[in-house]
Amino acid sequence: MTKLERIHRLLTVPDEMNLGDKQELFSKMYMKLLIFVHDKGYGVRQKHLLRCKDCKIGHKRSLHKSSLAIDIVLTKDDNLFSQTEDYLEAGEYWESIGGSWGGRFSDGGHFSLAHNGMR
Ligand SMILES: [Zn+2]
Repeated sequence: MTKLERIHRLLTVPDEMNLGDKQELFSKMYMKLLIFVHDKGYGVRQKHLLRCKDCKIGHKRSLHKSSLAIDIVLTKDDNLFSQTEDYLEAGEYWESIGGSWGGRFSDGGHFSLAHNGMR
């Protein structure tokens, strides 16, 4: 089985994938998301990517602590977008490539790869 075939198979059953492989997949998915939103004319300001394991901010099992989530702010013509619905197109794209989008729980700028039941 090629690596691509393995990744495709694992995308359908993501919890069989180990953390390191998921982190590598997440970085490729994030690269695709950046290209997608830039092609739509947005700028991107990156917020939380990694939080240390004992960081007090956020949920104690947050995927930010496993490098499987990033928060972004989309911009266009000096406007910063903050409403979940502003991220719908990017969120639907993210879901189409296997990701979990925070807009499904009122956090439009949060893009993650599900792991151990967390999004
Ligand atoms: Zn987040």
